[in-house]
Amino acid sequence: MEHNHEHQGSHAEKYVMVIDIDKCTGCGACAIACSQENNIPVRTDETDKYLSLNWLVIYRITNGEPFPKTKVAYIPRPCMHCDHAICVHVCPAMATDKDAKGVVSQIYPRCFGCRYCMAACPYHARVFNWWDPKYPEGTERGFNPDVSTRMRGVVEKCNFCNHRYQRARDKAITEGRVILKEGEYVPACVEACPTKAMYFGNIKDPESKVAKLIKSPYAFRLLEKYGTHPSVYYLSKHEWVKRQTDWYLETQNKKQSHE
Ligand code: SF4
Ligand code: SF4
Repeated sequence: MEHNHEHQGSHAEKYVMVIDIDKCTGCGACAIACSQENNIPVRTDETDKYLSLNWLVIYRITNGEPFPKTKVAYIPRPCMHCDHAICVHVCPAMATDKDAKGVVSQIYPRCFGCRYCMAACPYHARVFNWWDPKYPEGTERGFNPDVSTRMRGVVEKCNFCNHRYQRARDKAITEGRVILKEGEYVPACVEACPTKAMYFGNIKDPESKVAKLIKSPYAFRLLEKYGTHPSVYYLSKHEWVKRQTDWYLETQNKKQSHE
């Protein structure tokens, strides 16, 4: 099924995220901020991570060397907001779509829980609600009124805090502007990161920080082999990090060594 909202090139906004792996300490502040911002319920037993409703997961990787040569890095992984979003193409209910500014959205009342999108997403960025949400007593005081809760039977995922975009845009319009200024719209994870390892902005503004960062020789994206064209970029000066996180390079290298 074809959806035609992709590649609206004339639009003046396309938001991307850049994550500097060499700055990330794996503290988890981004993941906690994400859950709080988006009213993500906490299960009483969070030990089974396959059932957790995390929109942003932090993977730990190592260089595979024994101590004392061991090196560790952390990879925060939100939805990649792929330009070629496979999840959008497989959804029979049009419950997910990529909008003009590059955000892959999820429309909960349309989703009937077939989970094709989860099977299709190579980044495991989607999660399923097996139960109606439950929140520990007292936590409702911290609910975000801009974000709906999700019911049992639907898929959910990171939407780059789209409600923050709506809020920033409403404010800009009252000031007679259509395009947002740098920093007016940032997701909660980016705001919370204590080491400032995450950057976010409009790539169509050549002066934006993200537009400059993605030109770095240290920039890469996850699983480029699949042609998904993610909107999340990573930076690392360490070759082993790039090898571990970019399966394309790894398989290419293996292939070459067998030739
Ligand atoms: S990361 Fe997965 S859920 Fe997100 S846009 Fe890409 S395919 Fe869809
Ligand atoms: S689970 Fe929902 S969003 Fe995913 S493919 Fe099925 S209907 Fe679409």
